[in-house]
Amino acid sequence: MFDKILIANRGEIALRVLRACRELGIRTVAVHSTADTEAKYVKLADESVCIGPPPSAKSYLNVPSIISAAEVTDSEAIHPGYGFLSENADFAERVEQSGFVFIGPRAETIRLMGDKVSAKDAMKAAGVPCVPGSDGALPDDPKEIMRIANGIGYPVIIKAAGGGGGRGMRVVHTAAALLNAVTTTRAEAEAAFGNPVVYMEKYLENPRHVEIQVLADQHGNAVHLGERDCSMQRRHQKVIEEAPAPGIDRKVIARIGDRCAEACRKIGYRGAGTFEFLYENGEFYFIEMNTRVQVEHPVTELITGVDIVQAQVRIAAGEKLWLRQKNIGFRGHAIECRINAEDPFRFTPSPGRITNWHVPGGPGIRVDSHAYNGYTVPQYYDSMIGKLIAAGDSREQAIRRMHIALSEMVIEGIKSNIRLHQELMLDAGFIAGGTSIHYLEQKLENQPGDVQD
Ligand code: ADP
Repeated sequence: MFDKILIANRGEIALRVLRACRELGIRTVAVHSTADTEAKYVKLADESVCIGPPPSAKSYLNVPSIISAAEVTDSEAIHPGYGFLSENADFAERVEQSGFVFIGPRAETIRLMGDKVSAKDAMKAAGVPCVPGSDGALPDDPKEIMRIANGIGYPVIIKAAGGGGGRGMRVVHTAAALLNAVTTTRAEAEAAFGNPVVYMEKYLENPRHVEIQVLADQHGNAVHLGERDCSMQRRHQKVIEEAPAPGIDRKVIARIGDRCAEACRKIGYRGAGTFEFLYENGEFYFIEMNTRVQVEHPVTELITGVDIVQAQVRIAAGEKLWLRQKNIGFRGHAIECRINAEDPFRFTPSPGRITNWHVPGGPGIRVDSHAYNGYTVPQYYDSMIGKLIAAGDSREQAIRRMHIALSEMVIEGIKSNIRLHQELMLDAGFIAGGTSIHYLEQKLENQPGDVQD
């Protein structure tokens, strides 16, 4: 096992990794920007190194600074968390070339999955069902593009191979709009991701977002930890996640889960990962793979009892997978609400000092947050300040516990989205379960009267 790990991230995930390391008896190094010097988790770490000024580009994305911090502290491995450098293949490569272990997949796997065209090709070859679409990148020939779209059938979606974070996509409803849409998406993709390659998919009108969590070791073993439903989204950002996905037959989940585990074995995947799917009319369609720990990993932890972050560390240290698929059980139900420092209904960020912070508790409640009384939420980073997770024997119990927990939670001094979550826990559509990825946005659009301050 490692002696010391450097955590190349900030906020709640930095604290989550720190806790996992402590439990494994591993010392930790926190790196931080000058905006995070006072953060409690920085002080909880065994050592800390300032890696630059507040803007991420100069600190949390500053590769030479992070590598130097690992060198001066004699760290053995680097955990990238999520976001920032976690899916940056060049960073993973630099880490390993500098003699450290990257806690994640091999750089070439990150590269393969980071390009959506090559990821889809690899998944098709591995037997994972994908959204029907163009065979790889779209050609330049307009006639050929029209032919492909006609073959797929409208509506179609044009997506950038290098896209991410919900950007670089355009839905096309008619042949008349197709070629313009391709040209515009190409130009945007080139500007935003430095890669003009685009591809085409059938646009699914009312899908759910259902993803499969996997763990794979370096010795050819892989398991899946079931699914998460992350359909409650706004602007392609997940707002609420849960496990299991309501109303989907366990046999169907087992089948797609086995496919994902098999795909991991085929591509030599290493570590924790997530296969993201759109789910419509009983079918799964792969859209992308996340080669890192995800924000919503706790809901899976609560129903399987598997500590995913510790698993990442143990796998990176070379341990053989200690879990067998047949021994992985799923107990009860878990729901996560992302707590953001933002206006609950207008969604404008609300950084600043938290003058009063009180977190709920009781059976089945877990709070993953780095915030505390007097903590100042910096303006420079993502607005998520924590996650409230509720588990119960049934989905109904998890929802009830979440509603109570939200009513106990106090955040003063800044705005938070707690009121939105409270409303959603009482929402008939959410309570019924199985809503599509458009549900939340439609609700927010249709009920502006209810949702104003
Ligand atoms: P990103 O990497 O930017 O998150 P994804 O490929 O995961 O891109 O897609 C993000 C979101 O875009 C999906 O969750 C879904 O809401 C929508 N989307 C992507 N592909 C399709 C599709 N073929 N049909 C319908 N919606 C889609």
